[in-house]
Amino acid sequence: MERSIEQQFDFEDLDRILSGSCHSDPLHVMMYATDASVYRNRPKAVVYPKTDQDISIVLSWCAERGISVTPRAAGTSLAGQCISDGVVLDVSRYLNQIIHLDAEQKTITLQPGVVRDELNRFLKPYGLFFGPNTSTSSRSTVGGMVGNNSSGTTSIKYGVTRDKVLALSGYLADGQWVSFYRPGFNPKHQEQRNLPNDDLGNKASDSNGRQQNLTDSIIELLSEEKTRQEILQQYPKPSIHRRNTGYAMDLLAVQWDQEGPNPLDLDLLPLLCGSEGTLMVATAITLSLDELPPHHNALVVLQYADMQECMLDVVSAMKHELYTCELIDDVVLDCTAQNSLYTTYRFFVKGTPKAVLFCELRDDTPQGLTHQVDQFCHELNQQNRAYDVQVLHGDDIDKAIKLRIAGLGLLGAMVGDKKAVACIEDTAVSLEDLPEFIGAFTAIMKSFGQKAVYYAHAGAGELHLRPILNLKKDQDKKDFRVITQAVSTLVKQYRGSLSGEHGDGIVRSEFIKEQIGVENYHRLVALKKLFDPQGLLNPGKIVDPWPMDERFRVETTKNAKAINTRYDFSAQQGILSLSEQCNGSGDCRNSHEHQGMLCPSYQATKNERDTTRARANVLREVLSSGDTDIERWGSSALNEAFDLCVGCKACHNECPSKVDMATVKSELQYQRRKLGFSKKWDWFFGNNTLYYKYLFKIPAVLRALLNSAFLAGIIKAKYAIVRERSLPKFPKYSFSQRLANSQRLANIQKNMSETGLKTQDHLGLNREKGQSVYLWIDEFSDYLEPEIAQDAYELLVGLGYDVICITGLNSARALLSKGYLDKAKHIIDQNLNYFETHCPQGPVLGIEPSALYGVRDEYLRLASDQSLAEKWKTKAFIVEEFLAQEIRSGHITKASFTDQSLKLKLHLHCHQKSLGEVRDTFELLNLPAGYRPTLIPSGCCGMAGSFGFEKEHYPTSIAMAELHVLPAVRRAEPETLIVANGTSCRHQIEDGTERKALHPITVMRRALNNFNLK
Ligand SMILES: Cc1cc2nc3c(=O)[nH]c(=O)nc-3n(C[C@H](O)[C@H](O)[C@H](O)COP(=O)(O)OP(=O)(O)OC[C@H]3O[C@@H](n4cnc5c(N)ncnc54)[C@H](O)[C@@H]3O)c2cc1C
Ligand code: SF4
Ligand code: SF4
Repeated sequence: MERSIEQQFDFEDLDRILSGSCHSDPLHVMMYATDASVYRNRPKAVVYPKTDQDISIVLSWCAERGISVTPRAAGTSLAGQCISDGVVLDVSRYLNQIIHLDAEQKTITLQPGVVRDELNRFLKPYGLFFGPNTSTSSRSTVGGMVGNNSSGTTSIKYGVTRDKVLALSGYLADGQWVSFYRPGFNPKHQEQRNLPNDDLGNKASDSNGRQQNLTDSIIELLSEEKTRQEILQQYPKPSIHRRNTGYAMDLLAVQWDQEGPNPLDLDLLPLLCGSEGTLMVATAITLSLDELPPHHNALVVLQYADMQECMLDVVSAMKHELYTCELIDDVVLDCTAQNSLYTTYRFFVKGTPKAVLFCELRDDTPQGLTHQVDQFCHELNQQNRAYDVQVLHGDDIDKAIKLRIAGLGLLGAMVGDKKAVACIEDTAVSLEDLPEFIGAFTAIMKSFGQKAVYYAHAGAGELHLRPILNLKKDQDKKDFRVITQAVSTLVKQYRGSLSGEHGDGIVRSEFIKEQIGVENYHRLVALKKLFDPQGLLNPGKIVDPWPMDERFRVETTKNAKAINTRYDFSAQQGILSLSEQCNGSGDCRNSHEHQGMLCPSYQATKNERDTTRARANVLREVLSSGDTDIERWGSSALNEAFDLCVGCKACHNECPSKVDMATVKSELQYQRRKLGFSKKWDWFFGNNTLYYKYLFKIPAVLRALLNSAFLAGIIKAKYAIVRERSLPKFPKYSFSQRLANSQRLANIQKNMSETGLKTQDHLGLNREKGQSVYLWIDEFSDYLEPEIAQDAYELLVGLGYDVICITGLNSARALLSKGYLDKAKHIIDQNLNYFETHCPQGPVLGIEPSALYGVRDEYLRLASDQSLAEKWKTKAFIVEEFLAQEIRSGHITKASFTDQSLKLKLHLHCHQKSLGEVRDTFELLNLPAGYRPTLIPSGCCGMAGSFGFEKEHYPTSIAMAELHVLPAVRRAEPETLIVANGTSCRHQIEDGTERKALHPITVMRRALNNFNLK
């Protein structure tokens, strides 16, 4: 029986008085137990505020009961800032609106949950943008950036978040409204959106009094010259622009002059930025904006055999007007070499560099840019430290930048208990200290037997360097502290900042005392008391820190027993270890407007519950805390977390840590079935394709009855299929029946073998003899869309191949997606044996992507004979893949196809995007001289086998389709051909737009020249 861990507070009472909602159930407290740090603690409850007033209510409700509140946005903090022992206040779900843009004054006021990249998409038409740019900018929010004073690659040009904040309003720990402005800024848009004017008036006057008290007390705290001098001398050097150590009291101290500050002019914003949710909860943020950077840019990529040499060049490079200056080392580069997504982005790597420096230059004119680049390269070449210097333009820049951004995420992808852990990953020193500092840093790492991994915002003197430790081991746990201590002492020697941009959180707060001195630390404590006397806002961070070596997320799994699974998870060292691979980076929270398709269920619902991360978190929590199968797999929290996972496999490919939740979903369904939890219609969906062949044994007229509206209605009612969905229609004859009965098909084969060369010459083929290929007519193509199977057959024959059809082999796709793994395994073994016996050389070609790609994924995890599975993984292709290879080899040319003009819009199957290459289908359709295909930048279409048929999932299915596919199809001109290679995708498109999509095979068959069959 699952019970909430915390029963003594009546969170239902809180839920009742909110416009938003409060959740204290196991699912939510497990989902929010971690952020992107090494820590974990289950909060008591999670709140999704819908209005500013909700935040005030939550704070005062919690203050009355002594419960702490931790604000949270995208939860990508690396230092444990979002780890809570009270209530997590997730501002990202609803408080994500833009309040007011003043394009003339270049300012914008917004709610804290606005995502940084979405903000910049909104600003682009106005020629404006918000400069600070974290690697996580596709999901991290302005609220989180203010909380952590984030910076990122562009800080050398545009500054850090703190430099951009003009006003903040929100609530103190007791629910009192406050607002703070930069002196001289007109605060007219800093009001709350959801309160009536009267309330606003009252609030403003209460707030004025409270703010005055705060300002007076702070002035009092810093009134003595000696105090201010101690602060200025002991804080990190002012030349270090990125410094997030403690509260920025140094930036208050500098506001004093001979007479002291005018209280009205004291700017408290630098203090609030970077306060990690410990001083107030912001509900409206005003930012100053920059004009979009000059249009023309170039990326100079310098490669070095030695890290020290690279560091020396950073100092020289920074004398130029750089927009970014970033560094990665060989370890990061090696990670990208093993990830299929990034291998194509490594085009610029020459030899085996120890360090690569990326320097970006910009200019308004191409001539100006060339001049800058020439000067830059000339000077750096004179230093003679880099062994390779390349200048990248256009798409190449994007690829190189993507590779660098992926680096930090990929470091977390290490399989097993050893991980690159964040603790000393954020040091910043003055630029002139960097070469010496890095030498001393490396020596420390070596003394701990650590291989240093360098990833740096080098131009800002900032190093992202992580030790690799197994925090399940006592010795490594000790090293975690000792290494951090040693680096803290080193940073202090250089008057650097232990945190440049990631913040103190749990991991670094303990060292603030050493960094700024004991007296100054006590001043931070006093300051915190002024804002939050009860210490309820995000406790354990900055002051009164929680120990940095407790609350590790691995504590829960350290002694967990191995868990038996039906799939083979040995490549991930077991399913529990797979769940631990999620480092919380939040790539699975990217919006659908971001390139990529991770994760479609989150993109449709914008609910953290529907991220890959939440699934991995809940999986880890449930599997490690339950002792029996019923406690683990029977968990309703686990089931709920996976409910909207469509098994699209985007996570398998796009998650930097390869947290493959599609396979886990299938395993979960298998395990739940064993426990008797499956839904009664699962059987129908999982097994339907197995029985199609029997349907084709009954007379065609009877089968036609199945297509009637009357029977469809009965089937829908019985199997909880939504009324709005059409059901697939059964054809008069399956492809196998056509093959057996049709003289025409038999003749094609005969014709080819008899006329061989002649026909090929006629078609302009470049091959001497027909090559044998095995066309696997899967169950979808055989029984539901035999005309596509026939097109595939005719296309291949027409192109001169000897085609041997394989019929009667079920792919097991439906069984896999509903978790019928025993049956699926049996079929997989049968299929592999069939291939081995009957198609010894291959290739086996498939039509339906979801049927074929199992060979590259589930077959490897279920097959009894691994060597067979490995062999067939490389010999099975979808038809488009095979033909694209043949085009590249020059075996097929455009001469075989029509030269008529045709526009095509392509939506390709999500399994192809994960396990194959989209460009194969694109290149095939691009072959006919007049064909102009364009790709819809879509992820999963939302149909996903039975998912889109099921009543309970229909709204999400449609929401997924509406992200990209359906609007793109609706926008297509009537004469544009819609192309989709997945059977479910074609179904979704037709249901949603009443336009019929064709399989690429059909399109190419119709385009084939001079091949009119009688
Ligand atoms: C792979 C990876 C790469 C990263 N790269 C960078 C980088 O290049 N540069 C960089 O600076 N950082 C980087 N980070 C750190 C992190 O992404 C940034 O700090 C980011 O800005 C946090 O945004 P968020 O929305 O996730 O905030 P969260 O993590 O949810 O919150 C951040 C802090 O803000 C507080 N907070 C949130 N909302 C509010 C609010 N309304 N009022 C008051 N306080 C609030 C929280 O309590 C917390 O202390 C990286 C992290 C990862 C995992
Ligand atoms: S599932 Fe992958 S992408 Fe999502 S947070 Fe975890 S590691 Fe990052
Ligand atoms: S399989 Fe698709 S829906 Fe499921 S977690 Fe992965 S990306 Fe999300």
